[in-house]
Amino acid sequence: MEQIKTGTWKSNALFMSVFLLLTYVLLLASMAKNSNKLVTQNSFITVDKAELVTLSHFDKLITTVLLNPQGYLYRDEVFIISGQQHNKVNIHSFEEHLFASFIDMAIPFAALFLIALTTIVINAFYYRNKVSKEIAPLCRKVDSIISSYQLSNNNHQSAANINGLNHSLDFLQQISHEYQVKAEEHSFCDKLTHLVDRYHFLEHINKQLTLTAAAGTKSGLLFIDLDGFKSVNDSYGHSFGDEVLIQVAERLRSIVRRKNLSFKQDNNALEYNLSRLGGDEFTLFIQHLEDPEHSISVAIDILQELERDFILGNKTIKISASIGIAIYPDSAATPHALIQMADVAMYRAKTEGRGVYRIYSPEMGAKLRRYHYLLDEMRQALDSSNFFLTFQPIIEINDYGISYFEALVRWQHPAEGTIGPDEFIPIAEDSNLILELGDWILDEACRQMAAWYNAGMKKVRISVNVSPIQLKHKSLYDWITASLAKSGLPAHSLMLEITESCFIEASDKLFNELEKLRSDGVMIAIDDFGTGFSSLSVLANLPVDVLKIDKLFVTEAIHNIKYHKILHSIVDMALKLELKVVAEGIEHKEQLELLRTLGVKKIQGYLISRPQRSNYVGDKIFEHGINHMAQTGTSRWPPQINEY
Ligand code: C2E
Ligand code: MG
Ligand code: MG
Repeated sequence: MEQIKTGTWKSNALFMSVFLLLTYVLLLASMAKNSNKLVTQNSFITVDKAELVTLSHFDKLITTVLLNPQGYLYRDEVFIISGQQHNKVNIHSFEEHLFASFIDMAIPFAALFLIALTTIVINAFYYRNKVSKEIAPLCRKVDSIISSYQLSNNNHQSAANINGLNHSLDFLQQISHEYQVKAEEHSFCDKLTHLVDRYHFLEHINKQLTLTAAAGTKSGLLFIDLDGFKSVNDSYGHSFGDEVLIQVAERLRSIVRRKNLSFKQDNNALEYNLSRLGGDEFTLFIQHLEDPEHSISVAIDILQELERDFILGNKTIKISASIGIAIYPDSAATPHALIQMADVAMYRAKTEGRGVYRIYSPEMGAKLRRYHYLLDEMRQALDSSNFFLTFQPIIEINDYGISYFEALVRWQHPAEGTIGPDEFIPIAEDSNLILELGDWILDEACRQMAAWYNAGMKKVRISVNVSPIQLKHKSLYDWITASLAKSGLPAHSLMLEITESCFIEASDKLFNELEKLRSDGVMIAIDDFGTGFSSLSVLANLPVDVLKIDKLFVTEAIHNIKYHKILHSIVDMALKLELKVVAEGIEHKEQLELLRTLGVKKIQGYLISRPQRSNYVGDKIFEHGINHMAQTGTSRWPPQINEY
């Protein structure tokens, strides 16, 4: 392009020079012609040579350029000598000479000017044409590149001249930038939410932490995990869940913008400080943290923002989140460790109520270390059979007859002593060790019950807790029938306890298997009812026989009228649905009396007995004698307090 422009200018300059030269020659010719004319017409005056004065430098230059070197001043006017006789000279006015010459050359000059103008115009056209020819393939190339982007809303006009080409190149620059951003998004970010993925987020914070370290300042990392997102997915389907995640990402983005926490190369680029680590886990990096309080205010903002209703189509749902905060360099010194510590703090937020934030503290790290320690130990414990079962009776409230025993597992740790299931079952579930452990529990519970059954406890069942992880990984029917066959225990002596939350996300396959087990005689109980937020309408169609009301309601109902009312309603509803009701966690006789008045028939709790080892249970059931057992198929287990 530059070349073309320079070419035009060069030829224009050449034309101008030739034009000026010709004009000059024309003027000289005209002056020469006029000079002769003046002589022949005797249009000169004769003066004394002594009266002539030498010209100033400037006037001398002018007259010399016009080839009239013999110019002098006479009475303040420039005159040219045109003849000489002795001391007299013939002179004529230079001004008149020049003026007459201009008049004379007017027509040839006009002709020359016209020729020059025409030449310039032709030249311009020639160059335009030449340029158009030269850029034509270029324009075609640019157009084909633009059309290769296959833009659906392509309202771009083809390039046909320099301006068009310029415009096309601008357009090309713009779309190639957009493509660059898209390509970056494609390889750097999570396809669903368009947030940076874990790998690139880690890479980004790695660089930023180096800057933080150099500046001697602090940075913050927020680990955000949605509460109960799994139930949303299970209840409404995965595409609904995906929509929720997209909206969550959008809300987080808006907070990042509002709070000026952005890290972007330009307006279109990806937001590098915000990432989706996977599933329902998000992280936010705060580069400059003047005060850890700042990260708290961001966390509070996020919690509030996510608590607002999510509207998807005609559905409105509520979601909350738990947030863990880790501070660099206080909590950890590397990106991985920072995320891990924020995760630990988030886990604490979950266990301490959900919908809250927690800042990482070393004590939490200790908990994490214990988690990993127990996980390692549990693997060995499974090999060395360090687990044992305890049995807790569930009795009839009227005659204290044993209805069934709940099998509750314990871990006999060589150094720590007995470890309770509340601590190790969640770890076993996280690591899937529950599958192996659960097999042993079921087999052991059936084996023990078969022994008691054969001793006369024909009407008593053994109740085994089944974890949601087992339900997900096993074919329930085959698993249970195999264990029953192995132990020889009749199906009607077995009960399975499944927590309420499992039913919310249960598949049709599970429902069918539960139905099959029930038709064989196995009883199914909903465990911890009241804590899983299942809707009451779901309850009507569940393949269950027993509803175990969570301990929370029994504990609270004594002094809290609201819980009293809920407990009353649950019992009423269960009885109307013809479910057997068991109340868990009875510790005091007031609770027992309350349940009796509400119409509950079966109770379980420390008031009757703590979970006991099998030999203790054996002694207790034989207390009333073999005959009693042979007649009734059960035994009695009165409360431990004297008046009962
Ligand atoms: P769960 O199935 O609801 O079992 C009842 C828990 O309540 C038992 O705790 C029992 O000891 C406790 N409990 C019973 N009566 C009272 C009472 O009056 N007061 C108080 N404070 N607690 C009472 P445990 O044995 O510590 O088990 C805790 C949970 O661990 C169980 O809750 C169950 O979810 C799980 N778990 C226990 N054993 C197994 C098992 O073999 N397999 C599976 N998957 N989970 C188990
Ligand atoms: Mg249970
Ligand atoms: Mg329970």
